Amino acid sequence: MASVEIHNIQKSFGAVSVIQGVSFDIKDGEFVTLVGPSGCGKSTLLRMIAGLENISSGELRIGPRVVNDVPPKERDIAMVFQNYALYPHMTVADNMGFSLKLKRASKAEIKKRVDRAADILGLTKLLDRYPRQLSGGQRQRVAMGRAIVRDPQVFLFDEPLSNLDAKLRVAMRTEIKALHQRLKTTTIYVTHDQIEAMTMADKIVVMHDGIVEQIGAPLELYDRPANLFVAGFIGSPA
Ligand code: ADP
Ligand code: MG
Repeated sequence: MASVEIHNIQKSFGAVSVIQGVSFDIKDGEFVTLVGPSGCGKSTLLRMIAGLENISSGELRIGPRVVNDVPPKERDIAMVFQNYALYPHMTVADNMGFSLKLKRASKAEIKKRVDRAADILGLTKLLDRYPRQLSGGQRQRVAMGRAIVRDPQVFLFDEPLSNLDAKLRVAMRTEIKALHQRLKTTTIYVTHDQIEAMTMADKIVVMHDGIVEQIGAPLELYDRPANLFVAGFIGSPA
């Protein structure tokens, strides 16, 4: 596990500035949700933390280390996306173990890690199935399994539930929280859904147009929104 420190980070695509001096800290083991309307810069920020997008200016630390120039593979981070494409021709076990195989882990080590992740996610009986034989929720669990086997310091989720139906979305929220209670891995969870953000977070970061509007515990934001944008977005009563 590791803390993440984001210090005055800016990001421009060409002449267009999309993140304008964002700062916040995530404590070791904390579950932080990053929420805000579509286009406010959530995915861009997450991709910079993962190392998939370079940082225009500012400083990013994971644990004690400044990682601005560290390639994604060396950051010890695992990301779960909304479009979690599983390999259709591979079994659940092979889908989960694939990244370890690329890292040339031994067969025994891969099996150990895949079995542990399957146990945590309730996938043990499905290890020999193919993705087409799974429900949407089971596929989402396999996508999480692929992240868990890597035993990362930090989990990044980018709207992982937005392709699921409403009922399943609520069930998966509970599963992801239970997973966090068990593994205690530092987690940054992006969503545009304020209910999801409120119910899952230790701490919420509200973004709007490339800036942070407010950071706080769910109840703090609800009771004392810093401005009208936060009040409107979090849905505090008038
Ligand atoms: P969110 O995830 O909150 O919906 P994004 O981080 O995807 O927002 O996008 C933030 C802004 O950056 C948007 O205006 C988007 O169009 C722009 N943007 C994202 N990626 C690129 C890119 N590769 N090139 C140019 N603009 C981009
Ligand atoms: Mg996004």
